[in-house]
Amino acid sequence: MVFARIAVNAPSLASIFDYHLPPELEGHIGAGHLVTVPFGKQTVQGVVLELLETPSVAETKAVLDLLDPLPALTAAQIALALWLARETLSPLAACIGLMLPPGLSQQADVLYQTVDNGPLTKDGQSFMVHRRLVDLLREKGSLRGRQIDRHFKNVDWRKTAQYLLRTGVLTSQSILPPTSVRPKYIRTAQLAVPPELAEAAMPDLGKTTGTLSRRQAALRFLTREPADVNVSWVYAESGCNLADLQELAERELIILRETEIWRDPLAKVETAPKVPATGTPSGMEAHPFPLKLTPCQQAVWEKILQAFQSFPLLPSPFLLHGVTGSGKTEIYIHATQECIRHGKEAIILVPEIALTPQTVHRFLARFPGQVGLVHSRLSEGERYDTWRRARLGQLKVIIGPRSALFAPLPKVGLIVADECHDTSYYQSEPPFYNAVRTAQEYARICGAVCILGSATPSIVQRYQASALQGDDSMESLRLLELPKRIQTSGTTANFTGLPPVSIIDMREELKSGNRGVFSQALVDALDEVLKKGQQAILFLNRRGTASYVFCRECGTAVRCPRCDTPLTYHVAPTFNAPVRPDNVTQKHQDTLLCHRCGYTRQMPKECPVCGSNQIRQYGLGSEKVEAEVEALFPSARTLRWDWDTTRRKDSHEIILSHFTAHRADVLIGTQMLAKGLDLPLVTLVGIVLADMGLNLPDPFAAERTFDVLTQVSGRAGRSSLGGRVVLQTFQPEHYVIQAAAGHDYAAFYARELDYRRKLGYPPFNRLVRMEYRHVQARQAESEAQGMAAKLAKWIESEDRRETTLIGPAPCFFSRLNGLYRWQLILRGSNPASLLQGKAFEGTALSTASGMSRTASKGWRVEVDPLSLL
Ligand code: ADP
Ligand code: ZN
Ligand code: ZN
Repeated sequence: MVFARIAVNAPSLASIFDYHLPPELEGHIGAGHLVTVPFGKQTVQGVVLELLETPSVAETKAVLDLLDPLPALTAAQIALALWLARETLSPLAACIGLMLPPGLSQQADVLYQTVDNGPLTKDGQSFMVHRRLVDLLREKGSLRGRQIDRHFKNVDWRKTAQYLLRTGVLTSQSILPPTSVRPKYIRTAQLAVPPELAEAAMPDLGKTTGTLSRRQAALRFLTREPADVNVSWVYAESGCNLADLQELAERELIILRETEIWRDPLAKVETAPKVPATGTPSGMEAHPFPLKLTPCQQAVWEKILQAFQSFPLLPSPFLLHGVTGSGKTEIYIHATQECIRHGKEAIILVPEIALTPQTVHRFLARFPGQVGLVHSRLSEGERYDTWRRARLGQLKVIIGPRSALFAPLPKVGLIVADECHDTSYYQSEPPFYNAVRTAQEYARICGAVCILGSATPSIVQRYQASALQGDDSMESLRLLELPKRIQTSGTTANFTGLPPVSIIDMREELKSGNRGVFSQALVDALDEVLKKGQQAILFLNRRGTASYVFCRECGTAVRCPRCDTPLTYHVAPTFNAPVRPDNVTQKHQDTLLCHRCGYTRQMPKECPVCGSNQIRQYGLGSEKVEAEVEALFPSARTLRWDWDTTRRKDSHEIILSHFTAHRADVLIGTQMLAKGLDLPLVTLVGIVLADMGLNLPDPFAAERTFDVLTQVSGRAGRSSLGGRVVLQTFQPEHYVIQAAAGHDYAAFYARELDYRRKLGYPPFNRLVRMEYRHVQARQAESEAQGMAAKLAKWIESEDRRETTLIGPAPCFFSRLNGLYRWQLILRGSNPASLLQGKAFEGTALSTASGMSRTASKGWRVEVDPLSLL
């Protein structure tokens, strides 16, 4: 008999079980196959990890069906899933789930039919089921497993079917029905009458007081847009909805059209007409042929080429550290070409497709017909199609966000993680994992070349690439540098500097009586850009809004006297007590809280450093910034890119393409602006308040702020038009502000590494964050206290003196979806090992199924978290 070790998709502590193969499936099943198996009283799906000669238990059940004749997972993917489960303390089934396309479990099935002139059936124990099944199939011709389920409520017909298959009464085959393809439409709107007529119709369209009605705003907008406009754009501009536009169409003022568009996002990128060339400088278009590398690029490239040639010797991953515009993408393209030349496939990870359209476009232009996109907004069918083409080796390049790493490519030869510092590579929902870290391991498993690229690598990544570390451990990276920005003009490449950054001290602005959002310097700069017909970006750091308490005279943030963590503002005496506005005045409720150690105090009336009474929490949204711009520059066309304006599908692409086409002058946005955008007409970046986010009670706050400031600054001056950055701050002396303004990664790294060393944070220790959520505050707290006591006991009994326990304390975001959040931090050289299940100790395989000792009890356990908020 042949046995199979199977990872069962069931929410159970242990997820690996041994089964035997029925004779008719022998020879058809191997590692990676998707099957159904009996599990308790249910039938569940599972993936075969390996075939065995001897099972680990005396009695095994039989595998029921094979769902797909081709393996769903490659051998490398199985190895990766096992590693991931062990490393992240997640259930193996959840890790395998990352590798199956979402639709597969619904699509895969088995088709049964009766055999003509097959042997006659005999009486048996399950005779009733037996005859019903045969009769049903005779009547219907053939049926899929899931269809048969509907005729046999609570009856295990599959066992009978296995018997009938063996005796030749039935035949079966695995099926994956082709996905249905539905075309997709977009609506566009266009003015149908001369603008004067539209204006004349205005008064009929709503109230005439003060502001425009939505319909009026929509019509006004369309009078300025001669061409067909995507209705989403009209919605974003005017706040109107489809009904408003239909009303305008009814009155024959506008024309509404429906146009069929791409279903495959590739089709759009490949066939869409180029953005109108409103003074678009060269360097923006994708070059159809590889460029001749600059000497800097050449030096980097030779190292990478050596790694390709050293196969099968394991090359360690590269960290390609290069400022924005230094030619990293060109290096990725060369590497992809080399990878394809070796007959292998490449995975290119980007933070988000919608935010990196230029990178994607360049790959498409270089590798036409060979690229598959994995996109969060793909339909299930689209994703499934891409997955199947990848499995068959029909796609040479897969581009996408973190999930693209799990495309079932048969021979992975290259893995690139662009903007490898980006936190979107971390999945902050179970199963928690870091796609960059996972990419490093996957490259090791596949013997693939791995390149992590960034202008601002994370402190941990940069440390892994430093000589300090030196050893040959798997964690180490090889540093490659591209220190200079490339400026292209015509065919020759030359170097330009990064845009100059002026630091504006907002305390001085206050002293000179300017209480507005913008400093005089920023107003002047905006004025100049608008007069020249260029574009500006205004950036607002969304992290830390409103809770940041500081002195507007001297910039001091109020800190905890016990642990130096910045205190945060809350409107209740304690973080989790209900707010009672009835009997307490607002002032009395102003409380500051330390989220690390739980210290609380009243909001001070005076600054502890300079004694001023200008101590405030800071709150500013992009709407307010937009209103301010409009008040100062009434003719400026503003565009807001934030959570509010991007809820709709495709809105990122729409906002971006309209800004690129110069349909707006000022783009006001949050974190999304920091991603790899290439906006040639942008000559001014205004950072409205750079210190926001700097004072969050999180050891990674400085790193996050430095990243985002550096990346946003890099958006200015990407063309021959030049550019500049105006950075407003209340803490101009802060090392993060200084380093970001000087584009000085090295200075930031040195300071930050020092700080991490002193406080024992990564890379000098690893962290595990454990979070508990509950509807009742008291319950969350007591569970956290109980867990803390248990962990302390384990630490002591296992004599792990180097592992320390921090907390418990309420999380910074103390409530989420009505649940109270408490957390505990474990810190040490390998704190996760404290939680690893002991029950399965032994083989690599069995520890993988062991999860954490705590996961089953409702705790969210994160290994190497990127934020402690
Ligand atoms: P990064 O990925 O570091 O931001 P890119 O690869 O996008 O940098 O390069 C920045 C610009 O320089 C792009 O417009 C690119 O086409 C151009 N470029 C890159 N390498 C070369 C080269 N060797 N010769 C000419 N232009 C180049
Ligand atoms: Zn002060
Ligand atoms: Zn404290």
